[in-house]
Parts: sequence; C-alpha cells; structure tokens
Amino acid sequence: MEHTFIMIKPDGVQRGLVGEIISRFEKKGFSLKGLKLISVERSFAEKHYEDLSAKPFFHGLVEYIISGPVVAMIWEGKNVVVTGRKIIGATNPSDSAPGTIRGDYAVEIGRNVIHGSDSVESARKEIALWFPDGPVNWQSSLHPWIYE
Ligand code: ADP
Ligand code: MG
Repeated sequence: MEHTFIMIKPDGVQRGLVGEIISRFEKKGFSLKGLKLISVERSFAEKHYEDLSAKPFFHGLVEYIISGPVVAMIWEGKNVVVTGRKIIGATNPSDSAPGTIRGDYAVEIGRNVIHGSDSVESARKEIALWFPDGPVNWQSSLHPWIYE
C-alpha cells in the first residue's frame, strides 16, 4: 500500500487546525501510520526542502518551518500521494479550490498551513528523513469497508 508524508506547518498548529486536518484524511478513508509533534532544527528543515535551496524564498521558507512545532505524519492508502495533494490544494492559496485545506484555511503562499509529498519517490525520501523507523504497522478494522 502507498504512503505519503504530510506535515502540518507551524501556522496550522498555532491556529488549532491539527484536528480538522487529521479529520479530513481520516474521513477520506486513509490510515494514520505515523504521528509526532516536533520542532525541527534549521539544518533539518533545509534538508527537507533541499530541492528548493536555490529559490529566492528558501530562507523565508526555512524560517517559517522552524518558527514553531510541526505535526509530522505518515498516511497510507491507495493513491494517497496524489489524492493527498488534492485534499491539500494548490501551493498558492489564491489558486486552491474551496473545499481543499489550503483553499479553506490559507491566504498566502508563505503561510499555506500544510505540506504533502509531491510524488511516491519524494514520499519515500521524506518518510525516511522524518520517520527513520518507518510506518507503524497496524491494520484498520475498517479495511473491507474502504477497499473492495
Ligand atoms: P508544495 O508545498 O505545494 O509542494 P513547493 O514544493 O513548490 O510547493 O514549495 C514548498 C513550499 O515553499 C510551499 O508550500 C510554500 O510554503 C513555499 N513557497 C513556494 N513558493 C513560494 C513563493 N513563491 N513564495 C513564498 N513561499 C513559497
Ligand atoms: Mg513540494
């Protein structure tokens, strides 16, 4: 089964959106396979966003991510990487559709509440970085009601 890495950014935590965000993934039918509230160091945030290190917003992005605790999660499910990105919405909240997390709860691209892996390969890398022990191995008893 596919996994993705989802992170509620410091603004999402400070604004009390943790429960709402987890609820959206749970209600969709995805399974929570890793969860921690954690403050990360600058070097760790830089590693997470290393592909963006040449971007002009990189420094501000790293400052944002280290400005408070984040909620790091592993979610599991069929096509969870692509579907998770749909639940999250477009990067710039001005373009995110209502009904998506960013569309409903964010205004600015630099305060867009949540991160989600953009490919199965990024998910693999990000899960290895944030959860070296990998997903917690448990099986939801709802499984036959979610998957045929
Ligand atoms: P996504 O988070 O949707 O995968 P990117 O990987 O392109 O988007 O960018 C990572 C994060 O960097 C974004 O979620 C956003 O917080 C920030 N970011 C992206 N583009 C900009 C920008 N032009 N100005 C400020 N911050 C940005
Ligand atoms: Mg990205």
